[in-house]
Amino acid sequence: MNRPVLAANWKMNNGPTMSREFMQAFLDQYPRQNDRTILFFPPALSFAAVADAIDDRRDILLGVQNVHWEDQGAFTGELSVNMARDAGARVILVGHSERRHVFGETDEQTALKCAAAERSGMTPLLCVGEKLEEREAGQASEIVVRQLRAGFSGMKQLATRDVMVAYEPVWAIGTGRTATPEDAATMHGIIREELKELCGDRARVTPILYGGSVNPGNAASLLRSENVDGLLVGGASLDAGSWLAIAKA
Ligand code: PEP
Repeated sequence: MNRPVLAANWKMNNGPTMSREFMQAFLDQYPRQNDRTILFFPPALSFAAVADAIDDRRDILLGVQNVHWEDQGAFTGELSVNMARDAGARVILVGHSERRHVFGETDEQTALKCAAAERSGMTPLLCVGEKLEEREAGQASEIVVRQLRAGFSGMKQLATRDVMVAYEPVWAIGTGRTATPEDAATMHGIIREELKELCGDRARVTPILYGGSVNPGNAASLLRSENVDGLLVGGASLDAGSWLAIAKA
């Protein structure tokens, strides 16, 4: 198995003060671990607070929840990839289900964002996942493969560059309904096969995370599933105690 990646997506939660308090509580209980990588996606305004707290912890990486694909310009409210890198981010979340289904992010836009990440030497974490009606219609694998191909279509160095993927079925995000470890293994297997087409040998070492109502009770069994290389966690990453339990799973 690849070294697991345990990622916390705080969404629009935890301002700078709460982020500092959270990180103090978490880091007090989480000494450096070399057998896994922890990744935080704080809101942009709390990024500096989290970056200061982790200091020189190499086992903890930071990412941003969203970027614009242009390098700079008249795009009020947006952040560029270069700004994210300058602030200390290494990873860019792209195509999260809330970006796709609440804010209307398209496959074409995910491609532009992944390409922008590649241009500036950052790692895109591309989220893919089907809606409930798509799963019920037997289209889950088709949707996920389409999102994967589209998201990486603008990247030119896929065979040599780090990318990450998160399988996040839309029906499992924030609902309390989790994919079974068997369902996760099936979908992750499909993603791994498609990655072989896209990235060649690098597919083997490309982390494929599962996300969707992960909690301290189901984290370990999901991590044991074949081709599950880590977890992307929303709700349960907001409480330092439950995030600690998942980070140590
Ligand atoms: C997410 O936001 O990526 C997520 C998986 O959320 P939750 O863990 O709350 O389902």
